[in-house]
Amino acid sequence: MGFDPQLFAVKPCSEFLCTVCSEVLDKPMCVCQEGHTFCKACISRWLEKQQTCPTCRCAISQASLRPSRIVETLIGALDVCCHHSAKPNDDDGAHSSVCDSTSGQACAEEPAAKRQRMDNGCSWMGALRDLDGHLQSCGFVPDPCPLGCGASVQRRKLEEHSMCCPKRRVECEHCHEGMPYESLEEHVAQLCPMYLVPCTQKCGQTMPRKQLSAHLSADCPLQPVDCLFMAQGCTVRPRRQSLQQHLSDSAVEHSRLSTERLQALTTEMMGRIDALSKRNAELEGSINGLKLQLMESSRFEMFNV
Ligand SMILES: [Zn+2]
Ligand SMILES: [Zn+2]
Ligand SMILES: [Zn+2]
Ligand SMILES: [Zn+2]
Ligand SMILES: [Zn+2]
Ligand SMILES: [Zn+2]
Ligand SMILES: [Zn+2]
Repeated sequence: MGFDPQLFAVKPCSEFLCTVCSEVLDKPMCVCQEGHTFCKACISRWLEKQQTCPTCRCAISQASLRPSRIVETLIGALDVCCHHSAKPNDDDGAHSSVCDSTSGQACAEEPAAKRQRMDNGCSWMGALRDLDGHLQSCGFVPDPCPLGCGASVQRRKLEEHSMCCPKRRVECEHCHEGMPYESLEEHVAQLCPMYLVPCTQKCGQTMPRKQLSAHLSADCPLQPVDCLFMAQGCTVRPRRQSLQQHLSDSAVEHSRLSTERLQALTTEMMGRIDALSKRNAELEGSINGLKLQLMESSRFEMFNV
């Protein structure tokens, strides 16, 4: 493939075009006696399928190709625009929206607006042989964002982008932890230990998020707490500020629960004592049996001596 003819400041003459790709010759190779010339890549691909000149059909081979140095030098000296110049079509579209050339009036477009249109593309123009060198430093070449946000950013706008990239490093103003900008909102809304949050029980107090659980478990007047008689079976969970009231309101109920609990415990303990006594009696029986056996066996030994 050759160079896009659109890149050239002046339409290149037809001798500089490759008839295989219809573009301006890149590394031109002369292939036959007639001097027919094609891009090196184009004719190499052509030769893989057929061994004839694409124009005059005479027999050719890889060995008959000769570089056209003069044509290459002449093409290299032609003026081209940068690959990243404003496309003429885009430009015309943008221009006609501000300036209606068919009205017969002189174009009144402000120089600033003109410059803004120029901003759409690189204004570099130079010899084709210098294009590669220019592209090394052209600010309009898009590069992937170095912070990894996935955006493709023109080199000249990298600094501007680094100020608004979602992956740029920022510091949480509350806890001073560093993080990518895209995580900040969630961090503040859900995680930041220093962000001031209102009490979740709506007692009206505000505190750093990391103190909330201590506040709820030790201080908050609206946090439901266990009744002191929970072990006795009271399932009421009054708010901390109402605990004393609950204790005095439910004194009779608590006393009833305590009595019931005591009775249940007593019954359980009596059951255990019964079971232990029974076991004890069984063990005593076995011990007595063993004692008898022992006495009898020692009497038997004495008799034998
Ligand atoms: Zn070609
Ligand atoms: Zn030929
Ligand atoms: Zn450029
Ligand atoms: Zn980015
Ligand atoms: Zn934070
Ligand atoms: Zn509270
Ligand atoms: Zn209670």
